[in-house]
Amino acid sequence: MATLSLNVGDTFPSFDEFVCKLNAFQSEIFTQFIIKVGEKLPADDALFAMFKYSKVRYVCKQGNRVHKPKSSLATRQKQRSFKVGCPVMLNVRLNRPKGESPFLKITKMKLGHQNHQVCKEVFQLYPEQRRLVTDETDRYVLSSRTMKTSERRDILEKRHKTPVLTQDIYNMQRKTLMTKDGGLSDEQRCEALIKDVITMVGLEK
Ligand SMILES: [Zn+2]
Repeated sequence: MATLSLNVGDTFPSFDEFVCKLNAFQSEIFTQFIIKVGEKLPADDALFAMFKYSKVRYVCKQGNRVHKPKSSLATRQKQRSFKVGCPVMLNVRLNRPKGESPFLKITKMKLGHQNHQVCKEVFQLYPEQRRLVTDETDRYVLSSRTMKTSERRDILEKRHKTPVLTQDIYNMQRKTLMTKDGGLSDEQRCEALIKDVITMVGLEK
């Protein structure tokens, strides 16, 4: 078996450093971890800024989807999701040895997904993996008033060589709107905001 980049016993000098390694690990094994239980340090703890948590339990996102109650506006079948009971998990714990630098340590890790598919394609569709970096051309495409969403998607998919979801386009548009030089008129801002609201309440066809 190939050596994994994260193992039980690995230590990290800060939470950020751990998250950085975890992100790389996730792409390596096509697994999206989510925080299931996070014991936060008190805000006045000297280590709060560096570590944030004293203990975190991560689980496989795919295995822990919960059935969300449907709102009256959002009754579409595809919005439902179910827990499938996958055992994949990872625990980290803050160690504060006397007279030595504190560190985070992986205390437990369980791999081997169950009851769901594990592949690059599924992994790339997780919202957590969908932060596309936009450039000037993207911004032009995103703010164009004559292009349909499907046309925007085609262009963005070709440019970024990855599947692009309608939701990605809205997220990118929202981000573009937040940058000062987004170059959009008030009318365009309103249009994008309305689209955001429509997406949020699930009215989009
Ligand atoms: Zn899983």
